[in-house]
Formats: sequence, structure tokens, C-alpha cells
Amino acid sequence: MTNEIDGNALAAKSLAKFGIRHMFGVVGIPVTSLANRAVSLGIRFIAFHNEQSSGYAASAYGYLTGTPGVLLTVSGPGCVHGLAGLSNAMVNTWPMIMISGSCDQNDVGRGDFQELDQIEAVKPFSKLSIKATDITEIPNCVFQVLNCATSDRPGGCYLDLPSDVLHQRISEEEADNLLNRVEKMQTRSLPLEVEANKISEAAMLLRHAERPLIVFGKGAAYARAEHTLKKLIETTGIPFLPTPLGKGLLPDTHDLAATAARSLAIGNCDVALVVGARLNWLLHFGEPPKWSKDVKFILVDICVQEIQLRKPHLGLVGDAKHIVEILNKEIKDDPFCLGKSHPWVEAISKKAKDNVNKMEAQLLKDVVPFNFLTPMRIIRDAIAGLGSPAPIVVSEGANTMDVGRSVLIQTEPRTRLDAGTWGTMGVGLGYSIAAAVASPGRLVVAVEGDSGFGFSAIEVETLVRYQLPVVVIVFNNGGVYGGDRRSPEEIDGPHKNDPAPTSFVPNAGYHALIEAFGGKGYLVGTPEELKHALSETFSARKPAVINVIIHPYAGAESGRLQHKN
Ligand code: ADP
Repeated sequence: MTNEIDGNALAAKSLAKFGIRHMFGVVGIPVTSLANRAVSLGIRFIAFHNEQSSGYAASAYGYLTGTPGVLLTVSGPGCVHGLAGLSNAMVNTWPMIMISGSCDQNDVGRGDFQELDQIEAVKPFSKLSIKATDITEIPNCVFQVLNCATSDRPGGCYLDLPSDVLHQRISEEEADNLLNRVEKMQTRSLPLEVEANKISEAAMLLRHAERPLIVFGKGAAYARAEHTLKKLIETTGIPFLPTPLGKGLLPDTHDLAATAARSLAIGNCDVALVVGARLNWLLHFGEPPKWSKDVKFILVDICVQEIQLRKPHLGLVGDAKHIVEILNKEIKDDPFCLGKSHPWVEAISKKAKDNVNKMEAQLLKDVVPFNFLTPMRIIRDAIAGLGSPAPIVVSEGANTMDVGRSVLIQTEPRTRLDAGTWGTMGVGLGYSIAAAVASPGRLVVAVEGDSGFGFSAIEVETLVRYQLPVVVIVFNNGGVYGGDRRSPEEIDGPHKNDPAPTSFVPNAGYHALIEAFGGKGYLVGTPEELKHALSETFSARKPAVINVIIHPYAGAESGRLQHKN
């Protein structure tokens, strides 16, 4: 008698065959067996409480590992909840796939259990949205979504697996034949050829610039361009500016770091080489008044449409690591270096030092009840004490993320995850879980506002269940932006005795939440208490929540984006 396998087993087999080692998701009808099959084939399945958080995890996993993060959801509502992660992957240009079960194809249009036209629902949020309409299509469909998620500009792809397809059966022999046929289709994509004259022009622009700047972002981090960028920066002596997620490709403490002199650097540079970072809101669209109107941009991006959209002085389409490598070769033939005494380098270095000193003077004050600065300094110093490998820092919240970005120091690549291009709040727990799973041996430190934490606080149970080395530090100022900041007119009306829309229960016991599941919780309000909690949790490397009580009126509404609220 020939052995048979069903669609669930074939989907799991296909994922394993094409290199998937981890999956994130929430099981239920009709995909529970798919998850179990995957586990039996050696794939680690991290089961969450909600698809939103597991989708965020899958998106960050794709960024950190370069292999698509896989999110598995049930049909209908599960798929809709998962869209949060899929859309986040698209906007951040991170590779991920979402696989959802869907209702029986024979019952479509009849109001079946959790029925939804999922292919249409996910289209605006994905690069590719396909359905396997028969079990024999599963291997090819799995291959297509995985391949598409990482090719060209990375992003999210969707695979729909109807319940009737998951229950169809074929012989194991036929399944293996299908898998082998698809495997043979795999081709290694060669790096895009970059026109040699464009590389010479880029080198020439940098060589003749009076005030050159190198900006790099999470596209460069994704491309693992840290070594080539370091070589370019150190041989030419050009100052550099990372975007928030580019931080760490070169250490924040590097002599040529312009991070603490950001306004001066972007406002005065005459040539800016921008590698794997979009000239979007985070970089002020590359326009005045933040940038000089005469700045010449050299953009390096894998996506030709991105270059067409921004219309830079010079566009180099291709992989960041590859392009910077050939730029290095070009410069090697006719090397140049600005040197420490170059007026531009000196100006940036002096401004950066002045700003760091001013900030340090603020940071060194022990303010109790806590503002944002005092606990952030204590966390910074505790992280620095860990040395290498540096922990992965996950950061979100308005003030918590803003202050964290300037105070916390990144020294190693891809060690920072935050709200990203979309300003997505609620990503913290999902990102932390992904970081711990993707980087065994590293500690993960999540520094979160209480509202960001609250989006998926129940996932602390997931931390405990899998015993992940994640320390979650909640900056608890009692609400979104903290405190009740309404004007008298805003407080009036029949519901004036309700709490403000920005308020949560003051002094909420978030630390008790993780204790309910057997994790370690700390409530802290003084520098000594915080130092003690960090010292214990950083050495224990076990799931913990440190609930840091912050003054409700510390910080500002909307953080540094007040003009947008
Ligand atoms: P940041 O938020 O750090 O400014 P963005 O997300 O705005 O970065 O930009 C990242 C850019 O990097 C995107 O435009 C994306 O197309 C690009 N990118 C992604 N992968 C690569 C790669 N391997 N090489 C070059 N560019 C890449």
C-alpha cells in the first residue's frame, strides 16, 4: 500500500524543504495540523495569543535573518488580524510570508465558517497574493511566495490554503516528485550590473565634495553592508549618519559619527551618499529647510522605482553591499581621505561633542520621580556593561522611543528595532520574541512606553512559555503620552468624569502580569531599584518585566512629532 500525505503535511514539507526553520502564528481551523506537521519536521513554531503580534514577529524575523518570516493564521478574522504584520513588512520592506487557511472552495459565497475573499483582502498589503486550488499546487505556491518575498525590494507575500486543499491527499511519491521539480526551478539570482560610469561618477562626486556625508538605513543593514560601509567611511574619512534602524552598522561612538550633529550634517552637506534609506518623512524628504537646496544626492537602492520617485542627482540600483564594494574598488585606484583636520569633519566632530556634553549634563542628574532621561541613562550604562555581543534593543512609544534613540548606544549591526517607517506602535513584544528566536545567545531588551506594551502585553506569557531571554522595561507614565493634558474646553461635556482618552490606570502593576505566568516582575521608582533589577535580569537572561514608574507629566504629547498631532 502506498503512503499518502494530506495538504497540511505537504505544506509543512514544502516549507521545510525550502529552508524555513521558524514559524510564528496562532493555530485553529483549518491550520492546526499544518503547525503540528511543521514541528514534526524540525520547524520551531512559536505560538502567540494574537495574529497581530505574531505578524510583527514574522516581519522583524525576516529583517534580522534575511529569510522570510512565516506567519500562520486561521481563516477570516485570523487573516485580517495578520494584515497588521503583513502591511508592516511591506512598508518596512522586510521579507515575510503570511499563510492563512481559508474556507472550503465548494462553500464560497454561502456564508461558510470564517469566510472571506482573502486573496482580495490582502492585495493592497502584499507583493504577491496566491491561492493553492489543488494539493498538487502547494509546493510551487510555497516556493513562489518565499522567492518573491526576498527578491528585488523585499516585502510581504500571501499564500491562501483552502480547507478542502489541506484535506486532499496524494501519495508520498507524488509529493516528493512535485517538491523535487520545484526545487530544480530555483535559480541563484546574480547581482544587478551597475553601469561602470555611474560608479566612477559617484566616486568623483564624493572626492570633489567639500562637505560629503554618508547616510545609511535599514536597507543597508538588511544587505549586511556594514563591513563595506566601514571600509568606505574609514578610507575616505567622510562623516556618516545612520537612520534609526541603521544605527549600529558602524558604532554610534565612532569618530566620524554625525548622529549627535544631525541638523548640521544634513543642513550643510553638499553631496550625500544615501545607502538603503528612503528620502521619506524620516529624512525630511531630502528637502529644505532641513537639507540644503543644492545638495546632490547619490541614492543606492535595490528598487528602481524608489530611485525614479526621488529623482536624485545620481541613482545606483542594486544591492547595497555589492554597490559599496565596487565603489570601494573604484576609490582604491585613486584614494582620498578628508582627515581629522578637514574643516567639515572638524565642524561635525565639534558640534557632536558639544551636543553630547550638553545631553550628558542632563542625563547625569538623578531625577526622582523619574523623568525619561534618568532611567534611560541607567539602562544605557547597564547595556554598555554587557559588552559584546550587544543585546538587541527593541524600542517603542512616543517619548520612550525618541529619548531611547538619542540616549541608547548601538555598537553592533541590526541590534535596534523600533516603530519603523510606519511608526507602528504595539510591535514591541512581537519584535522581542522574533529577535530572541532569530539570534540565539543574545539578550533582548525591550524599552517600551506603557501604551506600546499594552497592545499585546499578554504575549509576556509567550516569553515565559518559551523561556526567551527578553527583559521588557515598561516606562509607565500612566497613559498615551501620560497624564491628562486636556484644555478646559476639551474636558467639558456629559462625559467629563470619564478618564481622558490618553489615560490608563495610574501606577498600573504591569510587573504583576508576567508574575501570573511564572516570570519575574520588578516595580521600580528609584535609580537604585532600577540598577538592581537590571543587574539581576541581565544576568538571569530569563523573561522579566521591569515596571518603571515615570512622572505622568514628564515628556511631551506625541513626543518629537507634536507638529503632526
Ligand atoms: P530607513 O527607515 O532606515 O531610513 P527605509 O526603510 O526608508 O530605511 O529604506 C530602506 C530602503 O532600502 C528601501 O528603499 C529598500 O528598497 C532598500 N533596500 C532593501 N534591501 C536592499 C538591498 N539589499 N540593497 C539596497 N537597498 C535595499
